[in-house]
Amino acid sequence: MSEALIIPAISRLEAIRVDIARALRDANRDASSVNLIAVSKTFDAAAITPVLEVGQRIFGENRVQEAAIKWPTLCEQFNGVELHLIGPLQSNKTAEAVDLFDCIHTVDREKIAASLGAEIAKQGKRIKLFIQVNTGAEPQKAGILSQDADSFIARCRDVHGLTISGLMCIPPVEDNPSPHFALLGKIAERNGLNELSMGMSADFEQAIRLGATYVRVGSALFGGR
Ligand SMILES: *Cc1c(COP(=O)(O)O)cnc(C)c1O
Repeated sequence: MSEALIIPAISRLEAIRVDIARALRDANRDASSVNLIAVSKTFDAAAITPVLEVGQRIFGENRVQEAAIKWPTLCEQFNGVELHLIGPLQSNKTAEAVDLFDCIHTVDREKIAASLGAEIAKQGKRIKLFIQVNTGAEPQKAGILSQDADSFIARCRDVHGLTISGLMCIPPVEDNPSPHFALLGKIAERNGLNELSMGMSADFEQAIRLGATYVRVGSALFGGR
């Protein structure tokens, strides 16, 4: 990777931090109440290293396999890395996912909830879990439907013994994302959930105004994929 490509990633990170701070101020929120997930999917260690070097520690990947190849070495080089799975999880990958990740944002069906419950108990690992809600009811998109969210959250807790931290959504690309963020906030509130994983490169400021506690930013930081 050339110097010319390395420098912009760092200055883009700085600009994103400034935008996040401003959005938090505008919303009268505490300066430390949102976490930036640097979404490093498709980018290699050479692209990720400069971002680690300037102190970013929370990273998001959407594939278990890709993360398993890239991250063990980077985690040996840098202390305190927190890895978040933001892509769909298959039940035959839950053991590996629980071992590798600190947080999974995509709990979206009974089978996954059951296998995560079993695997977390087996590995005795503390892991932060989010339920993905398909707020736009898009047939091709993962996530529990909004109207099924309350009962699914209850089953995750009562049947599968999961501690759920919050909710995650990916609004339809063609929609104004704000109503989707607001809906996610409402579902979280009535279920006693404090964390909201919402907002990507194009809309993280809107998400912060509506209560995001994790924003997932990829292309605005690493460039186009
Ligand atoms: C890729 C991805 C992101 C980051 O998207 P950008 O638009 O590049 O910021 C966020 N969330 C999920 C679930 C993703 O798959």
